[in-house]
Amino acid sequence: MRERRAETAMHAERSFRLPRGYVEILEPLRAAIGPDALRLDTTVERVQWQPGAVTVHTTDRKTFSARKLIVTLPLPILQQNLVTFEPALVEKTPALRGLRMGAVIKLGLHFDDAFWWTDDRKRLGFLQAPGQTFAAYWTTYPVLAPVLFAWCAGPIAEKLARLKDEDILQHALGELSKMFKQRVGARLRAWHLHNWQTDPLAGGAYSYVAAGGDRSQRALARPIGGTLFFAGEATDWSGQHSTVYGALMSGERAAREVLHRAQAVGVHDEKVARALAALGDEPGAVQHLQVKRDGLLGHGDLPGDLADGAWLIAHEGEDAAAVGVGQRAQGEGKVLGGGGGHAL
Ligand SMILES: Cc1cc2nc3c(=O)[nH]c(=O)nc-3n(C[C@H](O)[C@H](O)[C@H](O)COP(=O)(O)OP(=O)(O)OC[C@H]3O[C@@H](n4cnc5c(N)ncnc54)[C@H](O)[C@@H]3O)c2cc1C
Repeated sequence: MRERRAETAMHAERSFRLPRGYVEILEPLRAAIGPDALRLDTTVERVQWQPGAVTVHTTDRKTFSARKLIVTLPLPILQQNLVTFEPALVEKTPALRGLRMGAVIKLGLHFDDAFWWTDDRKRLGFLQAPGQTFAAYWTTYPVLAPVLFAWCAGPIAEKLARLKDEDILQHALGELSKMFKQRVGARLRAWHLHNWQTDPLAGGAYSYVAAGGDRSQRALARPIGGTLFFAGEATDWSGQHSTVYGALMSGERAAREVLHRAQAVGVHDEKVARALAALGDEPGAVQHLQVKRDGLLGHGDLPGDLADGAWLIAHEGEDAAAVGVGQRAQGEGKVLGGGGGHAL
């Protein structure tokens, strides 16, 4: 139901294509943060962290340090511990068990001519081939290029993924030849196979929720220790997981969490900041006291039986969580600092 609602809300029946690829989306970001701040082709192998301090180690022996980290690794990378977290992310184990990565194989085929566009099929953009291994094809319409994309998903793709690339190609060409009643192999100029299952930086195509894993996406998204934040399509729980839109929205959500966190801590003293980092954000790890959204916690908000020291207020509702931080002064019973409750 969530997925249906999400699709309707964003008019998912419309189709968008970025002619120069998704790198276009990054360009305004790169312009805003400076050319050196964004490092591509850099593989992370280890993340050492403690509340308020993170060091990331890359395979080319570089290290990067920060106070907070947004982790956007694909689901299988986290599930298979392909990046080592020290200490390990044990809090994420149930969430990672509740989610799965689906398989997709995509084959780009460049022919001498676009034999699929004929006088009676001038605007063909999409072809369904029920019962075939490659059950769907996309043309490049409205760009008129002699290129077809063959698509295969699910358990069939899992089996296919184990074959050699050349064998997968021949399989697709055989099916296409039958479909168009002509031998298309001789007209092939170039081809490219995307096999995300065997890609060590992907491990699969799109995530889905396993039976019983209902709240796993939200749990995967939940920050740890005020220091590790999580984004990526598998962390979307609005019904947009497995899409670019879901991935983008999750990135915004994680950035908001970091900013709110920084603002909430910024208005307080060091002690509160340290206490916030030490307490962490897991609902089980905080005192579940009260929710106050959109406003600073006032003096009157402090329950009488609360222990001295820093404390965190958290509430997790159906669609939002709110946190606030405050500190009770020794014996005075008043809040020294109060982070406004904000939606997480
Ligand atoms: C065939 C196919 C068709 C699709 N079609 C659509 C579509 O039409 N519309 C749509 O909305 N979505 C589509 N999707 C889904 C969409 O591409 C994904 O949901 C989206 O890209 C997920 O974004 P992400 O940032 O979560 O993950 P990714 O895009 O996978 O980004 C994760 C990044 O982490 C990097 N990484 C992994 N390990 C490491 C490491 N150790 N160190 C450093 N970096 C690492 C990877 O290289 C990758 O760049 C499609 C997916 C597939 C496979």
